[in-house]
Amino acid sequence: MAAHNPMAYLLEVVLRKVERERPEMASDSKYAELKRQLLRDAEEHFREIQATYATVLKTQCHCGGQLEPVDHDFGRSGGVIYDSVIAKCRSCGSSQSFQFPKEGFISEARSALALREYLQHTYGVDYVGMALSDLQSRSASRV
Ligand SMILES: [Zn+2]
Repeated sequence: MAAHNPMAYLLEVVLRKVERERPEMASDSKYAELKRQLLRDAEEHFREIQATYATVLKTQCHCGGQLEPVDHDFGRSGGVIYDSVIAKCRSCGSSQSFQFPKEGFISEARSALALREYLQHTYGVDYVGMALSDLQSRSASRV
């Protein structure tokens, strides 16, 4: 069973909406290229995240207990961006953090920015804003 990448899914949905509003984008090869690159990077980033989670599940606590991911930590320390998952032992409760690789995150963010700038410049469309309001309306309708 292939796991679904929620980020790539959201991108596809929002970009499809943008394309419906702006049919001329269908023949825009620059847009097609930026979109392909972003979806590829989102996929790569997702694979890195999955690999990190798999490592957490394979790692045993010093007490021999099973670790499970409980939290996600993202921030900045001394000018360095860090992104890690916090895992807690089911038996003794001690926690460890596992660093995600940064490459996928950085290339996805870079591609997302490039696409956002291009669409804003060329079509006056902010797909990131659309994605966020799409997310908000989804979580609102779940309540
Ligand atoms: Zn333990």
